[in-house]
Amino acid sequence: MRTKILLVEDEPSIADNIVYALKTEGFEVVWCPTAEKALAAFAEADFKLVVLDIGLPDINGFDVCKRLRKHSLVPIIFVTARKDEIDRVVGLEIGADDYVVKPFSPRELSARVKAVLRRSSQAAAPAPLPATPAPIPTTPVAPGEPLFAVDEDRLEIRYKGCQLQLSRYEYRLLKVLLDRPGKVFSRDELMERVWDEPGSALDRTVDAHIKTIRAKLHAICPDADPIRTYRGVGYSLAD
Ligand code: CA
Repeated sequence: MRTKILLVEDEPSIADNIVYALKTEGFEVVWCPTAEKALAAFAEADFKLVVLDIGLPDINGFDVCKRLRKHSLVPIIFVTARKDEIDRVVGLEIGADDYVVKPFSPRELSARVKAVLRRSSQAAAPAPLPATPAPIPTTPVAPGEPLFAVDEDRLEIRYKGCQLQLSRYEYRLLKVLLDRPGKVFSRDELMERVWDEPGSALDRTVDAHIKTIRAKLHAICPDADPIRTYRGVGYSLAD
C-alpha cells in the first residue's frame, strides 16, 4: 500500500507541483485547499504525513497543527511564504517536524518528506505518554549502564531503554549535550553547533527545544531531569 500524504495548500498551481512531485516518488497524495476540508479528510483516513501551508483562507496552518496535535503525532511539514524568523520558531515550537520556505523546489520538498518519514518510522513507536506504560520493548537499564544510548547511524537516542522520538534539532541538541556531560554550553554555543543557519535562529529557539526534549524525557521518567539550566548562561547534561 502506498504511503498516504495529506497536502493542505490553497494555491492550485503550487499544489499541482507538489502533488506531481510526491506522486512521482510513489506517494498517494490527497489535496485539500482549505483547513476545514483537511481536518475532515484527516479524520477519515490514515495519513502518514501532512504538508501544511500556513497561509490558508479559513484557519491558519499553526492552528491546524495545534488541532492535529491534540490527538495525533503525525509528522507535519510546514510550508510558509513568510520568511520572518518568528514564524519558523513558532512553527517548530508547536510540534511541526520540518518546514520549507516558498519558493521551494518540489524536489526539495520530496527530500524533506522522505527524511521526515524515515525519522518517524525509525522511531518505531511514539514517545510514551505519562499515563501509558512504555510501548516499546525496553531494554532495562542495568545498574551502572548509561542512561542514554546514542545510535549515530540511525540518528536515534534511547533514554532508560526507551527510544526518544526527536525532531532533527532536538536530536542534534541532545547529542551535543550528551557528548560532553557536565560541560555548560551557552545558548550561542548550542546554536552554533546545532543549527544549520545559526544566525537566523533566535535565542529562545534553544530554550524552546530544550523544553520539548525535557517533556519527552519526563514522559519516560517523571522523577528525573538530566538537563540542568544555568540561568542567563545555558545548559548542561548532568554528569
Ligand atoms: Ca497559501
